[in-house]
Amino acid sequence: MNSLDTFADTKLRGLEEKFTRRHIHVSERQENAYTLRQGKALISFCCNDYLNFTHHPEVKQAAKQAIDIYGAGAGASRLVTGNHPLIDTLEKQLAQLKGTEDACVFSSGYMANMGIIPCFIGAADIIFLDEFSHACLFAGSQLSKAKIKIFRHNDMAHLEELLEMHRKDHPRAIILTDGVFSMDGDLAPLDQIAPLAKRHDAWLMTDDAHGIGIMGGNNRSGSRATFDPLPEIPLQMGTLSKAIGSFGGYLCASKSVIDLVKTRARSLIFTTALPPASAAAALKALELIERDPDYCDRPIQNATLFCQQLGLPTPVSPIVPVIIGEAAKCMEAAAHLEERGFLVTGIRPPTVAIGTARLRITFSARHSKEDILRLAHTIREMNLL
Ligand SMILES: *Cc1c(COP(=O)(O)O)cnc(C)c1O
Repeated sequence: MNSLDTFADTKLRGLEEKFTRRHIHVSERQENAYTLRQGKALISFCCNDYLNFTHHPEVKQAAKQAIDIYGAGAGASRLVTGNHPLIDTLEKQLAQLKGTEDACVFSSGYMANMGIIPCFIGAADIIFLDEFSHACLFAGSQLSKAKIKIFRHNDMAHLEELLEMHRKDHPRAIILTDGVFSMDGDLAPLDQIAPLAKRHDAWLMTDDAHGIGIMGGNNRSGSRATFDPLPEIPLQMGTLSKAIGSFGGYLCASKSVIDLVKTRARSLIFTTALPPASAAAALKALELIERDPDYCDRPIQNATLFCQQLGLPTPVSPIVPVIIGEAAKCMEAAAHLEERGFLVTGIRPPTVAIGTARLRITFSARHSKEDILRLAHTIREMNLL
């Protein structure tokens, strides 16, 4: 065997021993939170399609129409010929929703973070990063070559201590955090982080992938708008791939910031633009959110019903972690649920810390009450809590 394959096989065996080898299964997502796997229809409690917009008839129709007009792909980077009119419209809508001067749409949320952070922060600078932040905030931070200081999850005293100790040694500083934490479902205390950032002249960027469309004010603009007064967040990043039900990432910010991003972000410049269908689907989803904000409350209402059944704390997002501990036990629990018709993926290290493997249960608008009660009942019988 050649050295490359030997390396891969040895590495895989090591991962298997730690129960951390991952497998990708063919999944056919259907309407109303059902997913078909190996011919079996399971009720999915692990999608990020919180508003079930991936399968909304109007969203699908908008995507089809965009293909008829603009074609299946964008054909080039946005800086060449890929900047079709729907991307421009989408940026205007996002800026309006988030209350910023301008916005920039990327081809995914991951790519947004890889591109934005190095535009503003370089080798001489410093990044303060919540330890539970999404992997792409870590990846973007590493690309910037700046010094990275990780603060304990939502621990404001620790963040302040690090700011006091290190901020002054660097020309520029940025604080990075998820708005809604993707594996824990809790919110960052933006009302406390924003003033801290201001006091220490550190810029603040939130990744609100799981906030938009589900929470925040009358327009459901995301986690920032759950605070009153609105915290000052000069860089509001997010994705169109979760509640919006499409694909793509974005940054909402001032005109100057967006202008710089559009001329410097490498993950924007050197990649093909978002396909027209994705932009059209996202635009339709934003319209649906504006039309029926009450519908947008359902995911958290459903999460709340589940938590009440199990005596868990009242959730603030549609993400409810059931912490199991060991990776092997967590995967067993997920398999047991699957046998009973529920699709809940187990989340293991390194995605989460060692000893905190969990069932990450997510709720969508179209889960039925009966299914939620049955899931709660099954989990209670498994004696996991
Ligand atoms: C899913 C997610 C991303 C990545 O977004 P994509 O558009 O799927 O690349 C970024 N940040 C957070 C917090 C996420 O949960």
